[in-house]
Amino acid sequence: MYTLNKVGKQYGANSVLAHINCKIPVDGVVVVMGPSGSGKSTLLRLLSFVERPDEGTIDLKLNGDSFRSPGNDRPWPRVTCVFQKQFLWPHLTVLQNLRLPLEAARHQDVDERVAKMIDLFEMSGFVNRFPNEVSGGQAQRAALARALVLDPELILIDEPHGGLDLEQQSVLNRHLVDLSSSGIGLFIVTHSLDFAQVYADHLVIVEDGTISEMGPREILEHPTSLYLRRSMGVAGVAGGTPLN
Ligand code: ADP
Ligand code: MG
Repeated sequence: MYTLNKVGKQYGANSVLAHINCKIPVDGVVVVMGPSGSGKSTLLRLLSFVERPDEGTIDLKLNGDSFRSPGNDRPWPRVTCVFQKQFLWPHLTVLQNLRLPLEAARHQDVDERVAKMIDLFEMSGFVNRFPNEVSGGQAQRAALARALVLDPELILIDEPHGGLDLEQQSVLNRHLVDLSSSGIGLFIVTHSLDFAQVYADHLVIVEDGTISEMGPREILEHPTSLYLRRSMGVAGVAGGTPLN
């Protein structure tokens, strides 16, 4: 469970997140949605402890252990993240990208863990290629696999559906569902309402630097936030109220 207490984040004079007070579960699939520029990626960076809030505190309770930001606690690699501009080391092959975190952590079972990931994400056809030689969907899977080699308990993923065609999206969704059913907590920022409707256990809507609505998937039946009402109205989905 995350507990956010008066969380705020600024970049220079620009207040990006303000006055966020909430509790967010970390089991199951949490889907984060909202307009572009509303602060979703910033929220994800704070929740992953990669950046610290300028105001307030973020407490994370993860399988009995507590972490606080700001503070010296770092939940990595029990918590890992895949950012929006997914990054693979360009001068290393996909295989070397997968091995490096394990070698850096001096794991004994590098070969086994990497083989498991290649199998899970069906990557045997392209693991020996460099990142600029694989498709967007393959790079996305490789970035996800690399975030998973260290066996995280919680993984935060920023817009994994961006740039993927429908088939790649459904392959990715199958992987995400498998991860979730294996007990890994997932936080996923996405613009895909379809994904939220099918897979979200919890929804967090970010608008204008704050959380405008949150709750279980059922909030989609009677959305109150401007963003959800607008998106669902435009998409012609029952429950949405079109706004001008
Ligand atoms: P979203 O992911 O919802 O599109 P972001 O969290 O990326 O939104 O950005 C929210 C706002 O914060 C935007 O106005 C963006 O320009 C600003 N912002 C994000 N990161 C930085 C940064 N590192 N430095 C300055 N401004 C930033
Ligand atoms: Mg973003």
